[in-house]
Amino acid sequence: MKHENKQSKTGAMGRRDFLKSGAMLGAALPLLAGTLSACASGGRGNAGKVLNAQVANVPSIKLNNGLEMPQFGIGTYSMSNEECKQACLEALRNGYRHVDCAYSYQNERGLGEAIKESGIPREELWITSKIPPTEYGEGKTLIAIDKMLKRLQVDYIDLLYEHWPIGDFVGAWKDMEKAFTAGKVRALGISNFDFIEEDFHAVIDSMKIKPVALQIECHPYAQRLEIRKKAKSHNIAVECWFPLGGAVSQGALFKDPVIKRISAAHQKTPAQIILRWHIQEGFSVIPGATNPNHIKENIGIFDFALSDSDMAAMRSLNKEKRFFTMPFEEVKKMILSRVLKD
Ligand code: NAD
Repeated sequence: MKHENKQSKTGAMGRRDFLKSGAMLGAALPLLAGTLSACASGGRGNAGKVLNAQVANVPSIKLNNGLEMPQFGIGTYSMSNEECKQACLEALRNGYRHVDCAYSYQNERGLGEAIKESGIPREELWITSKIPPTEYGEGKTLIAIDKMLKRLQVDYIDLLYEHWPIGDFVGAWKDMEKAFTAGKVRALGISNFDFIEEDFHAVIDSMKIKPVALQIECHPYAQRLEIRKKAKSHNIAVECWFPLGGAVSQGALFKDPVIKRISAAHQKTPAQIILRWHIQEGFSVIPGATNPNHIKENIGIFDFALSDSDMAAMRSLNKEKRFFTMPFEEVKKMILSRVLKD
């Protein structure tokens, strides 16, 4: 499959400027600690790698098709193109290498610009996006994937999800398989296939290419024990949306007394405790943030660990209380009636 990097030309800001504006600051930390002689001689080609490996230290998850996906990334829901671009650039400066996007967020162009301007080699990034139900159907989905590649300014997408099990998701999957074979997509996933049992099985049991990941709402108040068991039995990774409860939760998880107690004990913020819990549960986690302080804070979770008793306390918070409460029938109507711009 062709996954060659055709993205390495510098964009408007230029690789050197981007590195100067933040990444080099990050790379300087391990240098000062005397741990990274490679950085000094590495030059332009491997600066991204240096950041990822030495500053952010993000582990990866081995997917059922053998690919390694960074376990942690940034989510881009509810951001404009410009907000998405700035948030992604800030995240990339802070060592993030995984971005979760979707056509329905209408900000793939912003992500595309960030990828280009960062100058980070394409192969060092993990780019996820999602095809919405309005683009499902054999023949139709392949065209939608080509348009997505153009918006993102990339030759391939690392992980492509079906966003919802609505409409002709079987026909869409067949096109996604063709895109996989053509090297336009490296892995396929299902998102929100937790409403109806048969929909999950329609993909898992019948399709040629199996999903590598299931993306669902999951956080300490809705730990999704049943669906996680099912995903595990099929060797499918779980990736959590609303990992911090989402904006709609209005910070409910941050005020939880158990989370606050653990936060004080580790001198980490409640958000960091929640994200660390996700990591130790083995999830992939993609918190959304536009605030540069939050972007930095959220990735600062790889220098400490929750103890067994912390993990037990976090698990005890489960009440299977989702913050996204719209009934599925309403979700269907809402999604099918949305008109998306290219
Ligand atoms: P989230 O749980 O990541 O919370 C985001 C909210 O928390 C925002 O209001 C943000 O400002 C705030 N926040 C972030 N970091 C913070 C910090 N350190 N301290 C205080 N507040 C902080 O919710 P989300 O962004 O909606 O979900 C994560 C990602 O999952 C999305 O961005 C998107 O990429 C994806 N997603 C997917 C689906 C789906 O249907 N597959 C649905 C929703 C979201």
